[in-house]
Amino acid sequence: MRFDGLTALVTGGANGIGLAIARALRDSGARVWIADLPRENVLDVAARESIQGVECDVTDEGSLDAAFAAAGEPDVVMANAGIGLDSALESTSRELWDRTLAVNLTGVFLTVQRAARSMKTRRRGSIVITASTNSYDGEEQLTAYNATKAGLLGILHTAANELGPHGIRVNAVCPGYIRTRLTAAGFANQEFAKNYFRNLPLGRGGEPHEVAAAALFLASDHASFITGAGIFVDGGQMAAKFGTWREESAQFAGDHWELK
Ligand code: NDP
Repeated sequence: MRFDGLTALVTGGANGIGLAIARALRDSGARVWIADLPRENVLDVAARESIQGVECDVTDEGSLDAAFAAAGEPDVVMANAGIGLDSALESTSRELWDRTLAVNLTGVFLTVQRAARSMKTRRRGSIVITASTNSYDGEEQLTAYNATKAGLLGILHTAANELGPHGIRVNAVCPGYIRTRLTAAGFANQEFAKNYFRNLPLGRGGEPHEVAAAALFLASDHASFITGAGIFVDGGQMAAKFGTWREESAQFAGDHWELK
């Protein structure tokens, strides 16, 4: 998959999945801009990675406008920035709810809106939203997060419908459990990982570059007839209703399940 001559903008690009996407785009020939919060030292990260960086808060329209202006007219936009804050339903504060909606839902809405305005004049472009398996299920302690990720499907479908006639495709990656700062504690906890990964047909957590590969496919011409789609990048999690791995036939080898 080549992106030579194309410009790409990745929100939340200084860390985790966003950074993996930015690296993959860079290695595929794109001129890459990462947009992230100042506290993530986005300019330093960009310099280290030989890409471009811009400080940006996706909840702030002026800040996003400035990021799009800095990047020029992006051919590819990855609406990836997101936060995940655990809290039981009854103790979820209004503040946590509002913050999560602001970043994960409004932030993506504002990003996609700007991408659409910019791409429409050129009648081409590709947008990829980072949604989640939680767009579809109800993982406990994540009411606000799950509500935003489910809401992204509404943005995905509507944007694909409205922008298709203008030559713009809109798709989503729906990652499962991926090794980033959001999930570092879970990956470090063997008991947790063992019980989580027993439900995944591939028996392990995912790596950011594995999500990036799917995001690049969706953004590329290889996906020229795909729009409005969400691709699970979850080791089969959403396919395995009753789990996969059992002690009778398998063992947990530190970070993954394997057959005995
Ligand atoms: P990271 O925390 O590693 O990266 C997310 C980046 O987005 C961080 O740099 C973060 O900064 C930044 N960010 C947060 N708020 C804003 C904002 N207002 N404006 C601009 N940037 C912001 O997380 P991941 O890489 O894991 O997550 C990336 C996306 O993938 C998210 O949308 C997440 O919901 C989704 N996802 C992740 C999964 C996983 O297992 N890791 C699974 C499914 C979906 P800061 O840290 O300072 O807030």
